[in-house]
Amino acid sequence: MRVLAIGAHPDDVEIGVGGTIARHVERGDDVTHLIATDGAAGCRDPADARRDEAVESARTLGVEDVRFLEFTDTGLTDDGRVVDAIERHVTDLDADRVYVHAREDTHQDHRNCARATLSATRREGSVYAYETYSTRPTFTPRHVVPLTESHLEAKLDAIRVHESQTDKTYINDGTIRGLARVRGRQANRSFAEGFAVVRSIDTW
Ligand SMILES: [Zn+2]
Repeated sequence: MRVLAIGAHPDDVEIGVGGTIARHVERGDDVTHLIATDGAAGCRDPADARRDEAVESARTLGVEDVRFLEFTDTGLTDDGRVVDAIERHVTDLDADRVYVHAREDTHQDHRNCARATLSATRREGSVYAYETYSTRPTFTPRHVVPLTESHLEAKLDAIRVHESQTDKTYINDGTIRGLARVRGRQANRSFAEGFAVVRSIDTW
């Protein structure tokens, strides 16, 4: 399976879908991370540092292919330029499955990333929407990926690589682990990540 995980900022993919990425890599799937902005806003470190963290963090999960679109942090739109930029990678990779932010999100970059991806993936592939710290309570996961302790640890290790962000409480171990427990409980498992189903297509 060819998997494309899209995030507005350098740490979003790990926060939203990191455990599931660990599972995909374990299965032998081809995984690519696509990051729409450099995440420079509100960060004490230069944008280069966040890029490096994103590459290193992906490597922790076993993902070597990390791509950047270089739109402006906090100024991401859902207009044609963004749709075209995302669509080029979706088409290039012939992605079977795309993960992206949920549209129910209070951060405008996350919302616009979700909207642009919806247009960019209109021709192919399944699309699942992940949750982050700014996803609104109306988010309802209809698709659940159970995680083992080692998948969750891989996710936590990947998030820890984002050292420029470690003072942000929403990405500390307790918060991430707590949400994984809640989503796991809802599926009768120890841990899980939950996704909204944007489009689900069988691959057989
Ligand atoms: Zn973000």
